Amino acid sequence: MKIDSINIDSFKQIVFFTGAGMSAESGVPTYRGEGGVWHEYNWQEYACQEAWELNPEKVFDFHDLRRAEALKCFPHKGHDVITALQNTHPNVLIVTQNIDGMHQRAGSENVIELHGSIWRIRCEKEGWVKEDLITSNFEKRKCDCGTWLRPDIIWFSDMLNPDTVQQANEAISKCDLFISIGTSGVVWPAAGYPQLAKSTGAMCVEVNPEPSEQAWMVDDVYKGKAGEMLPLLFDV
Ligand code: NAD
Repeated sequence: MKIDSINIDSFKQIVFFTGAGMSAESGVPTYRGEGGVWHEYNWQEYACQEAWELNPEKVFDFHDLRRAEALKCFPHKGHDVITALQNTHPNVLIVTQNIDGMHQRAGSENVIELHGSIWRIRCEKEGWVKEDLITSNFEKRKCDCGTWLRPDIIWFSDMLNPDTVQQANEAISKCDLFISIGTSGVVWPAAGYPQLAKSTGAMCVEVNPEPSEQAWMVDDVYKGKAGEMLPLLFDV
C-alpha cells in the first residue's frame, strides 16, 4: 500500500493514544471481543472492588493469569515505531487504556496508563504504590502491615485516578498531532480524547482495521493493523 508518511518534525507535541487493539495484535487477549476474557470469566467475580474484598485470593489468581498471558506475548512493529520516535523526539507521549505494560516492554517511556497496570501493586491502608515486575505472579499478596495488597488497576465501577486523568488531559490538549490506535472509542473519558485534541487544533489521525466511533471527526483514518500501518506512516 502506498501512503504518505507523516513528517513528525513538523509537530511540536505528539500523543499516541492506544487501546486494546494495539495489544491484541501482539496476542494479548481482548476483554469483550471474540475469544475475550469476559466470555470466560464473570467480571463481577474477578475485576471489581467487591470481588477483591470478598475473595482476594481468587482475584489475585485471575490477575496472575493475566500477567502470565501478557508475558507470552511480545511487542510488535507498531510498538517499536513509537519507541524509535520517542528515542529521537522527546516530545512524544503515549496515553494508553491498556494495562499490560507492552509499550514499556518495547522500551517506551512517558506512558500515561489511564486504567492502571497489572505490573503495579498498592496498599490501600499505607497508601503506597509500587512496581511489581519480577515474575508472572505478583510477588506478595499481603502488605507487611497485614492487609491485602491490591493490583493497581482501574476495575469496573472504580473512579479513574484524577492525577492520571489530568496528565492525559493536559498532554492531549497541548498536542498538535494526535494518533489514535486500536480503540473502539466507546469507553469514556477516552472516547472524548479525539474531540479534545481537535478542539485545540491538533491534527488527528486514526489507525484501526475497523474505523472507530470517533472516526468521523478525525482528519485521516488509516484502515489497517497498527503493526503494518505505523511503519508506513512514520520514517524511523
Ligand atoms: P476495544 O476492545 O473496545 O476495541 C479494540 C479496537 O481495536 C477495535 O476498534 C478494533 O477494530 C481495533 N483493532 C483490532 N486489532 C487491531 C490492530 N491490529 N491494529 C489496530 N487496531 C486494532 O478496546 P478499547 O477501546 O481499548 O476499550 C476496551 C477497554 O478494555 C479499555 O478500557 C481497556 O483498558 C481494556 N482492555 C485492556 C487490554 C490490555 O491491557 N491489553 C485488553 C483488553 C481490554
